[in-house]
Amino acid sequence: MSYNYELLIIGAGSGGLAAAKRAAAYDINVAVVEKESLGGTCVNRGCIPKKLMVYAADFALQDQLATSYGWSECQRQINWSQFLSKVHHHIDKLNQSYLQTLEEAGIDPIFVIGDCTNRIPLTPVAIAEGQAVVDTAIGNQPQSVNYDSVPSAVFTRPEAATVGMTQSKALQKFGDSVRCYRTEFKPMLYSLSEQDEKVMIKLIAEGENQRIVGAQMVGEHAADIIQTLAVAIRQGVNKQELNATICIHPTIGEEVLTLE
Ligand SMILES: Cc1cc2nc3c(=O)[nH]c(=O)nc-3n(C[C@H](O)[C@H](O)[C@H](O)COP(=O)(O)OP(=O)(O)OC[C@H]3O[C@@H](n4cnc5c(N)ncnc54)[C@H](O)[C@@H]3O)c2cc1C
Repeated sequence: MSYNYELLIIGAGSGGLAAAKRAAAYDINVAVVEKESLGGTCVNRGCIPKKLMVYAADFALQDQLATSYGWSECQRQINWSQFLSKVHHHIDKLNQSYLQTLEEAGIDPIFVIGDCTNRIPLTPVAIAEGQAVVDTAIGNQPQSVNYDSVPSAVFTRPEAATVGMTQSKALQKFGDSVRCYRTEFKPMLYSLSEQDEKVMIKLIAEGENQRIVGAQMVGEHAADIIQTLAVAIRQGVNKQELNATICIHPTIGEEVLTLE
């Protein structure tokens, strides 16, 4: 196989595809080399199939809740093989759309069998091979989680999300000027149900102005709500400014803006 490109990118995952598109935008003659499927981990076995499975599980949770609203006969069954075939069909469509995007951008996809890294000639190469799967002891409670100002979420039920500093990190960095605002409540969706479902929201602020430096949430819509707070943290918004925002009622998000 001969490569006549100004740049070869190995790996057509999120990183490799983004790099290839950026290079093509600068008129660099670029190709992306992939040994499996376009889209990498996120599309083929990570973010997308995982979230579709979470959505599928949500129907079972909603069925449980529906009885508390007076619905009966909520005993639906999932057709697992039909569900999986729909997931695969969706992933195939995403693979196709990635292929089309590459073609439109003038980027050649090169599919290889096995590792191609020892067959590459003197072409500049960017490696975007992703990471290998690591076995973790699921079931053990994590003793610590690494957080930056990058928001992140765990799409379990209940959902959990975080951005910026935890209370302990903020205390380490800013000492006594740190204040933690916290609330825990039963979300309205569960108000007719006996289920003891809770939402927990925590805001960490520091300094005289009470600049928001972190936020954590567990519960319904945690990822969406924390994601919007990331903007506030990046922009250096303080607690007073958050509280001055007019809320949409009744929402879970309003609880973030009215925390005392
Ligand atoms: C189960 C799971 C769920 C996830 N859920 C989320 C989520 O909800 N949100 C989120 O933000 N992130 C999520 N992630 C993480 C996300 O998938 C990764 O951060 C992202 O895919 C990393 O992109 P990448 O381009 O670095 O690597 P990858 O997407 O892994 O791409 C690397 C590509 O390189 C190819 N490759 C490797 N070696 C070679 C070689 N020698 N020759 C040719 N090709 C090669 C691989 O086949 C692969 O396609 C999840 C990951 C997993 C495993």
